[in-house]
This record gives sequence, C-alpha cells and structure tokens, in this order.
Amino acid sequence: GSTIGIIGGGQLGRMLAMAAARLGYRTVVLELQADCPAAQVANRQITAAYDDATALAELAAASAVVTYEFENVPVVAATALATKVPVYPPARALEVSQDRLAEKNFLNGIGIATADYCPVDNDEELTAALKKFNGSGILKTRRMGYDGKGQRVFRNMETGGFAGTCEAMGNVPLILESFVAFEREISVIAARGIDGTLAAYDPAENVHRNGILHTSTLPAGIKPETAAAAQAAAAKILTALDYVGIIGVEFFVLADGSLLANEMAPRVHNSGHWTEAACTVSQFEQHIRAVAGLPLGSPARHSDCVMENLIGDDILRVPALLAEADLMLHLYGKAEARPGRKMGHFTRISRRD
Ligand code: ATP
Ligand code: MG
Ligand code: MG
Repeated sequence: GSTIGIIGGGQLGRMLAMAAARLGYRTVVLELQADCPAAQVANRQITAAYDDATALAELAAASAVVTYEFENVPVVAATALATKVPVYPPARALEVSQDRLAEKNFLNGIGIATADYCPVDNDEELTAALKKFNGSGILKTRRMGYDGKGQRVFRNMETGGFAGTCEAMGNVPLILESFVAFEREISVIAARGIDGTLAAYDPAENVHRNGILHTSTLPAGIKPETAAAAQAAAAKILTALDYVGIIGVEFFVLADGSLLANEMAPRVHNSGHWTEAACTVSQFEQHIRAVAGLPLGSPARHSDCVMENLIGDDILRVPALLAEADLMLHLYGKAEARPGRKMGHFTRISRRD
C-alpha cells in the first residue's frame, strides 16, 4: 500500500493514522515532539518543525499524499510541499481559516452570515469598534487562538478607557466580533472527495466549558430546516474552496432558528469524534478516503449519542467509564494529565436505530 503523510502529531493525527492503517495505508508523521500521540500509532515519525525545509522534502518524498491535523501549518510550507506531492485540504483553506478576518470576509463573500466584525490593531480602533457594537463584543486574536485562548469579552461596558488592552493581548492583529446571544451552538462535519462528491454528517450540538469543548450531542435540538441549512452552508464552503477532506464548521443558532457561522477548521474536528461510535464511517476514515482518492462513505448516523471530552484530571474517571455498557472510550496515550489538556474522550450511545 502507499504512504500518507500527516503534518502534526497530536490526537487528531493519531486518529487519522489509525483510520489510515485500517484502510491498508502506511503513515509518516511530521512532528517536533518525540513520542507524540500520533507517532505511537504511525509507521514513522520525522522529528522536526513544521516549517523545516529538509523535513518537508523528506515528507514529500515518503508520501503519496500529504494531509494535516491542525490549521496552523504555515501556508508557505503547504504551498511548497504541493509542488512535489498532492496536499489536501488545499493551501487556500489554510490561508482562509488561519486568520479570523480573512475567514469572515470569505464566509460573507459566499453568502454565509457571521457576527458583525471589525479589525482592531490598537486601543483607539478598539474604542471605536466597541462604540459601534454598543459596548459589547468579543475581542479575539486574528491568528493562533484555540480553546477560547486569546479572547476577551466586553459586556455592556461604557465605551472608552480601554488603554493597554491591545498590549495585554500581545500587540497582535485583533478582531472585535459583536456578541451573539445564541440559543445554542452546533457544528457540521462535512467532507468533499477528489471527484467533488459531498457528504455531511448530522449537526452536533456543542457545549463548552472554560472555552474548551465539553460535550457534543446528537441529535442537536434544532429543526430539520436548521440542520439542512447548516449542512448546505458547509457544502458551499467546501465547493468554494475546491476542497478535499473533512472540514468542521461551527455555527451559532439564534432564537428564530437562523444561523451565524462562527469559524471553520480545515481538518477533522473535536466535535466530530462521536462519528466513530455512531456512524459506520467515522470522520477520520472519511478524511483518509477523501485525501486518498477513495469513494466517500455514508455519513449516516445509526445511533443517538453524547461525546464528552476528558480534560486533565478527568482521566481519573476512566475506571468508572470502563464499567459502563454502550460507551466507547478513546484515550490519546498522553503520559501527563496537565490542566486543560485533552487526554481522551468517550461517546455514550443513548439510542440505537
Ligand atoms: P476552538 O477551540 O473551537 O477553535 P476558538 O478559541 O477558536 O475555539 P471560538 O470558537 O471563536 O474560539 O470561540 C469559543 C467560544 O466562545 C464559542 O464556541 C462560543 O461559545 C463563544 N463565542 C465566540 N465568539 C462569540 C461571539 N461572537 N458571540 C458570542 N459567543 C461567542
Ligand atoms: Mg477555533
Ligand atoms: Mg471554536
């Protein structure tokens, strides 16, 4: 069989490597950290930084196709790699999703609504932007934020007097988003194959705790029209980017059932982990199928379920979880349980068709 290159050695890379192995592929992982979660299951690790030119050349030479498990792969690295070997999802998807401003411009440009937003590069611009949004909003770093890091919430505050905010945020480009009074949050995991075929899983309803995904519940408590609209939006994004692979798209659902897109991730997504327990073809297998040029599998769901993340000390729950029937446990092989660190997840099946 041929070899699939994976940039990034975390749990998502690990689960991609597992799915690839099950379909008969070998995997090589590019990751600086030795004994990373993905390297424990991959056939080989190239131990280097994601922008190391020699390592990227080695990865290209070893792989029939290269994919990645995180959205901060340097665009220049992906573009250079793509001259030697197919890289999926395409570099354009990285470019758009690495910068919250580019992402929102792209989404609105293809007719997908988002919260109102305003780029902010200094305290004066912040004051003006907050005034525009009546004193409330979420200030986010445009790049590199995840698990709610690099964000600051302003709620019903008097405008002005925000001197020092931008410095405290690291003097990096920022974006102020209007505060969305959403009823719930959902996400759609969808795939596009090399031949343009589309497949979207049912939307999951997501609950966050301390900025980190806590649970994803299927079915989401939304109307069928809302679910269809979210899937249609994901399909539109995939087609517009001439995408290959899995994407995760997060949405806010408003009281009237309308949607605002929050952000998208050009990779397998934490809110799609339930698919391994409640679908015949998981998001991981679907991604491997897509990037390897195989036909996509069915995204149909055979069960209702709740996926829950195991963060830090939650790992102590493992013995009790192992005693539960109809529960699928998935641990990431991380030795040290630091606070806020994703150690694993489990999916409880609540009803089977
Ligand atoms: P992830 O780990 O999903 O990549 P992130 O750090 O990129 O997260 P966001 O998804 O932008 O951050 O925001 C994290 C959470 O903060 C959202 O899931 C939502 O609960 C809340 N949030 C973000 N933006 C807004 C907004 N404009 N209005 C209201 N709540 C918001
Ligand atoms: Mg994000
Ligand atoms: Mg998010």
